[in-house]
Amino acid sequence: MTAASPPRSLVWLRNDLRLRDNPALDAARREGPVVAVYCWCPAQWRSHGTGPRRMAFILRCLRALSADLAERGIPLRILMAKHFSEVPAGLQALARELGINALHFNAEYPVDEQQRDHSVQVLLEAHGVSVAVHHGAVLTPPGSIRTNAGKMPVVYSAFRRRWLARTQAGEGQPLALIPTQTWPVLNGKAMTSDPLPDPDDVDEALLADLWPGGENEALRRLRRFMEGPLVDYREQRDLPASPGTSRLSPYLAVGCLSPRQALAAAMRANHGRRSGGRPGPDAWINELLWREFYQHLTAALPQLSQGRAFKPETERLPWRDDPDALAAWQQGRTGYPLVDAGMRQLNAQGWMHNRLRMVCAMFLSKHLLLDWRQGEAWFMQQLIDGDFAANNGGWQWSASTGCDAVPYFRIFNPITQAQRFDADGAFVREWVPELKALPAPDIFEPWKAPVLAPDYPEPIVDHKAARARALAAFKSLAGR
Ligand SMILES: Cc1cc2nc3c(=O)[nH]c(=O)nc-3n(C[C@H](O)[C@H](O)[C@H](O)COP(=O)(O)OP(=O)(O)OC[C@H]3O[C@@H](n4cnc5c(N)ncnc54)[C@H](O)[C@@H]3O)c2cc1C
Repeated sequence: MTAASPPRSLVWLRNDLRLRDNPALDAARREGPVVAVYCWCPAQWRSHGTGPRRMAFILRCLRALSADLAERGIPLRILMAKHFSEVPAGLQALARELGINALHFNAEYPVDEQQRDHSVQVLLEAHGVSVAVHHGAVLTPPGSIRTNAGKMPVVYSAFRRRWLARTQAGEGQPLALIPTQTWPVLNGKAMTSDPLPDPDDVDEALLADLWPGGENEALRRLRRFMEGPLVDYREQRDLPASPGTSRLSPYLAVGCLSPRQALAAAMRANHGRRSGGRPGPDAWINELLWREFYQHLTAALPQLSQGRAFKPETERLPWRDDPDALAAWQQGRTGYPLVDAGMRQLNAQGWMHNRLRMVCAMFLSKHLLLDWRQGEAWFMQQLIDGDFAANNGGWQWSASTGCDAVPYFRIFNPITQAQRFDADGAFVREWVPELKALPAPDIFEPWKAPVLAPDYPEPIVDHKAARARALAAFKSLAGR
């Protein structure tokens, strides 16, 4: 520790709410005493579809971070800004107040965030503050994985192959926890942290039992997953009734955990390998790479953040307008037990199992022929792990409008999906109590069961007819 001195650099924390493996924070503290800032932008986030659950989760993570920073002698300043447009001037004023000469942050890749960051950079540099952009939310910086033609690979398997070839096994080790600094002094006084935002419309305790905030919680969950379910991940990951996945997505989305930390932990369990090791860790690393793929795509293709389909021809699909069907889907009352179980899990927990996200997304976009953007928005509103790149990627995959998406004719049958992945009906029984008394396989087609479930709705569409309608809609694109 050095004697108390004024701050020299500012780290702007965003989707990187952690002290470990945080490239921006690490670079900032190397320049001398560092101050952290967080911009609370509720109106902007709401316009991006972020719901109260995720805002509550961010607040919890911010509270934990503020305490962790204080232990390291780093004050946390809060900049209240309704919209991103207010951020550049706010940061510039703070930089002037602190007298710092460098700003560091980790990049965010959707368009509005990139434009905000560009404006910040231009303004601060014009005032003599250097700005350094780092990459803490990805394994490798977007733009670094390229085809021979120098383009971003738009097929996942090619992306993965090139990622494996480009990066070395020992490369990208997570950075260590930053050392403690002496609390910086400003105008002769020790600095303090700002109080955290206390918005009227966000209940910080929302879903706190299920999703406590903070880096330490993320690390605890990572350890528990590594010591338990990881080994059987490949067999268990598709079974929604099994606690077979890590449930780390909310922590990765707000950056309480970095993807490099996740990768390094998986490699330790995988004989140090990124692929070709043990089935469980291999399969989990593959999912981390899907996350990476969608982050890189978001950075490469601004049209994705502007609500456009990756495949432009699919903009001509004859999406239906059916508010009743949309509401039935949102509430988990479609009459298809696995779809309803998934949607109810989402509404209750702010999280849904990946297999069911695909089943429910395909049901909306194919069986109901409703615009995938309506589903994407509902998910974003409800999810505690809402992440633009993964959500958009997952929706466009399921709706067959996206990059390396499922072929339009491979439409998941919600009945056989249930028979396959919830064979004894345990998951449906947990989330759809109206069907509790039905044994498998009756529970998957309750309308055919000898004992009817009077409180449970009839299917809102017939699978075969809905499938035929979706196929016709996609085929019509070729004819025009
Ligand atoms: C329609 C749809 C919407 C989705 N929306 C989101 C979202 O908003 N936020 C989000 O984090 N994930 C989203 N996913 C991806 C995936 O469903 C979740 O990441 C996963 O279910 C989270 O559970 P877990 O942490 O237990 O995952 P694990 O199976 O333990 O996987 C580890 C991590 O890898 C990443 N990951 C896993 N699968 C995927 C995938 N298919 N695409 C991208 N990343 C993946 C996640 O960060 C996850 O935490 C979506 C998928 C679909 C099909």
